[in-house]
Amino acid sequence: MSRQPPLRSLRCPHCGQPAIATTDNAFRPFCSERCKLIDLGAWLGEAHRIPLATPPDDVLDPSDESSVPGP
Ligand SMILES: [Zn+2]
Repeated sequence: MSRQPPLRSLRCPHCGQPAIATTDNAFRPFCSERCKLIDLGAWLGEAHRIPLATPPDDVLDPSDESSVPGP
C-alpha cells in the first residue's frame, strides 16, 4: 500500500519532471521558476523570430484582393 498524498501532479511541459498542480506551485504547470522562464523565453523567441528560411507560400499565392472594386 502506498502512502502517497493525493496531490494533483502533472508533468512539467519543459523538462517532463513531475510538477505539483496546486496553488502551492506558483510556477505551475511548470515544476520550477527556471523551467517557466525558459519555456516562456523560448515561446517569445519563436514568436518574435521571422521565418525567413521558410518559403513564403502566401506571397506566391496570387491574390485578387487588389482587383476587388471598392465601395
Ligand atoms: Zn521543469
